[in-house]
This record gives sequence, C-alpha cells and structure tokens, in this order.
Amino acid sequence: MGAFDYDFFVIGGGSGGVRAARRAAALGKRVAIAEEYRFGGTCVIRGCVPKKLFVYASQFAESFEDARGFGWSVGETRFDWPSLIAAKDAEIERLEGIYQSNVGKAGAEIFNDRAVLEGPHEIRLVEAGRRVTADKILIATGGRPNRHPAMPGAEHCITSEEAFHLKKLPKRIAVLGGGYIAVEFANIFHGLGVETTLIYRGKEILQGFDDDLRHELHQAMDKKGLRVHCCDTLERVDMRGDGTLAATAMSGEVFVVDEVMLAIGRTANTENLGCEAAGVALDARGAVKVDDYSRTSAENIYAIGDVTHRVQLTPVAIHEAMCLIETIFHDRPTKPDYDTIATAVFSQPEIGAVGLTECVAAERFAEIEVYRTAFRPMKNTLSGRDGRMLMKLVVDATSRRVLGAHILGHDAGELAQLLAIAVKAGLSKDQFDATMAVHPTAAEELVTMYEPSYRVRGGERI
Ligand code: NDP
Repeated sequence: MGAFDYDFFVIGGGSGGVRAARRAAALGKRVAIAEEYRFGGTCVIRGCVPKKLFVYASQFAESFEDARGFGWSVGETRFDWPSLIAAKDAEIERLEGIYQSNVGKAGAEIFNDRAVLEGPHEIRLVEAGRRVTADKILIATGGRPNRHPAMPGAEHCITSEEAFHLKKLPKRIAVLGGGYIAVEFANIFHGLGVETTLIYRGKEILQGFDDDLRHELHQAMDKKGLRVHCCDTLERVDMRGDGTLAATAMSGEVFVVDEVMLAIGRTANTENLGCEAAGVALDARGAVKVDDYSRTSAENIYAIGDVTHRVQLTPVAIHEAMCLIETIFHDRPTKPDYDTIATAVFSQPEIGAVGLTECVAAERFAEIEVYRTAFRPMKNTLSGRDGRMLMKLVVDATSRRVLGAHILGHDAGELAQLLAIAVKAGLSKDQFDATMAVHPTAAEELVTMYEPSYRVRGGERI
C-alpha cells in the first residue's frame, strides 16, 4: 500500500464522493478528493437545494392570496427575480464552503482540479499537470442534463442548470419532459407568474408514481392555469427575429415562448475521464457499470451515485458511499439496499411516496386492499382554495402488510419520510390502526381509514 501516494482517491466532490472521502479519512486512510467545479455537486450547487429554495419562493403568491381568508390585508406585492438569485447564490456559497471544509477537517487532501484516470492506479490532475497514484479509486462524477442534441434548435434551449442563473425571469416558458425536474420547474415558474406549458410525450406525467396521484396533480396544475400538454413532444425550436422562440411540437402546434427548458433525463459524466485507460467499462448510455458492491470492471476502482445510473437520488449516493466504505475498509461486504426508497416531488401540490404503487402491488400480490381518501385540508377552508389532499395506503390482503403509501398535498414530502420508517419496517395495517391519531392534522387520516375503499383481486377491482 505504501507504494501509492494515496490509499483512496475520490474523483468528484458531490454528495457521494464527499461522504466517502470523509469516512475513509476518518479511518486514518490517506485520502485525496478532486473536484473540478464546486464542492457540493448537483444536489447543493445546481439541484435539490437551490430548487427547494425556488419552490419556497414560488409558493408566496398563493400564500398572499390565502391570507385574505384569515383576515389579513396584503398590500401590493412584487417579485424581484435578481434578488432571489442573489440570495440563493449566497446560500449555496455558504453550503459549498461547509462541504469543502468538512472534507478538509476530516483529513482528506483537496484538489480543486479536474482528475482523469490514466491507468488502474494512476490519476492525472489536469490543471496542476501532476500525476498521482492511489491504491483504490472512487468515481463519483455524477451526471448532467441531457441537452437533446438530436433536436434541431436544441442550442436555444436551457436546462435546469441555466434555470438557476437566468438573467431575467421569462414571461412564457415551455418545459419539455414529464419527470421530476420538468414537473417541479413547471410549478416553480408558474408560481412566479410565468405563463407555463409542460409538454410531455406520454399519456400522463410522472411515470412510475401512483396513477391516482398523477391524475390528481395533473388536474390541479390545469386548474390553476398551468397547461399540461401530453401525448406530444417537441420536434424543433427556432429563434424568431424578436429573440423569442418558436417551439414546434410533433402535433404541429407551435408554442411561442421566451425560454424552452429541457428536462428529459440526465447523462453520466464519464466523457474524457480515462475510463478506457483504467479498464473501467461503461454501459450503452455511458454510465459506469458496477456490481452489487459498487465495484467497476477494474478491480480496485469503484463508482457510486448518478454516474452509475442506478437510482439518481442524493440519499442513495450517500448510502452507496457508506456501504462502500464498509466493504472496502472494514472488510464487511455491504450491498446498498434499494428496497422501499421514499421519494418526493416538490410540485405544487407536493407528492410524497414510499413503497409499491397500486398498479405494481396488484401485479405482485393475489389480493390487495386500497385505502383512499381525498379531502379539502383545513388550511384551504378559510382561504377558499379548492385544492384537495389525496392519501392512499396499499395493503396486502393476506399478510395485512402496508406495501405502499402515497400522498398528494401539503408537506407530502415530510410525511413520506416518516411513513417510510413504518413501510420499511413492514408494519401491518392493524398497527397503523392501533396508532393514536394526532388531531387536528391532515396526516391523521393515515391511521383512521378503517375500511378499504376497494380491493383488487387477480388484477381486477372488486
Ligand atoms: P426523469 O427520468 O425523472 O424524467 C425524464 C422525463 O423526460 C420523462 O418524463 C421522460 O419521458 C422524458 N423524456 C426522456 N427522453 C425524452 C425525449 N427524447 N424526448 C422527450 N421526452 C423525453 O428525469 P429528470 O431529468 O426529470 O430528473 C433526473 C433524475 O433526477 C430523476 O430521475 C430523479 O431521480 C432525480 N431528481 C429527483 C428529484 C427529487 O427527488 N425531488 C428532483 C429532481 C431530480 P418518459 O416518462 O416517457 O420516459
């Protein structure tokens, strides 16, 4: 081991890379970490964190309206985009500093540089023009938005990366895609007063989520004037003489907008990384291939997080990092556990979900019970807002185990985190029923739905 400059070299200072570097350094390993851009990665710099700050900003318009119902007179309101960007940038800078200092404090050597592989143990630091060696190497370079190069006019479009730095808030925007990013950003822009159209190729947004929630969210978005245009996609985008964009859909419809945002999935950051030189195999989409323990095709090189195209979520990358450290430095081979991952979509209303959807549970289990409630939350009574909250529990009729919980409405993400403990622990519906309600809350519905709304047997609703 002494033959190498480092015991462990991490390429990429995002959530996964930083966690792995910190844990390894805390064990007394000689660790280095290289980041070519900013510490914090997608989540902190251009993803989850700034997105959530934008979500909060975009919710105020409705809050000002709702306040009247509770006796408040709200004077003239005005939104200033540059102020939001500046405040967000300051917060991101603060977090970035914490990320970098934590990794330094743990004892890892930091390189603010691009690192590329030159062999199974060799790494070149591009700016420094220096070559170092390491016993074990971790690739944690993350991903970036797919910029849809095959579409004519793609160069006129923005992605989530540019959305965080737009000089001006557009008056009209078209967002392409029907996944997390498209839905979240469409709601953000709409909340900030932008005329927004979401264009999605499938029949219903948010493929993979429970169908009930998908339809209910779609309707809620439509109702508030956010156009959701399904079963269509963009064919081309042209710049018009006045600087606006004409986005032409397959159906022939033309959307004249100030910005077109692409949110059609993400691509692994493996280009020019030297994977070939190091014997690291990639899959057809360019992601690093790994085994159950995050080991690549090179024996001493590992990969975690979005660069591996497993589950693209920050907590998953962090969990993969923890498992990897157990495996390679504690000699306790530990596979990441991908079962029952709770998730949230920060749409407005929000979605929180954990476990199986009704559709998947109906395929896997002979008979399921569905407990479903849709109601107007108390907060919407005095305000007069007509948004409904939807909650669903999917239960295996034989074992009574709660297989899935799905929520649409206020704080659904927060609720999903707590429900995840119960669903992951395999608790039964009877244990939910035995739990005292917290009153008055919306969440009390989760422990007071005593009779199933319907059952599904052999795939048929009965
Ligand atoms: P998603 O995979 O969620 O969605 C991609 C969307 O783009 C899908 O609706 C897909 O359609 C559509 N699409 C794909 N290719 C094309 C194409 N060529 N033309 C038109 N539409 C296309 O990716 P996102 O980019 O939204 O997000 C990336 C990942 O980041 C997510 O998978 C998620 O794991 C993570 N993320 C998580 C968040 C959270 O936890 N709240 C927030 C943001 C991101 P189809 O459904 O038909 O395949």
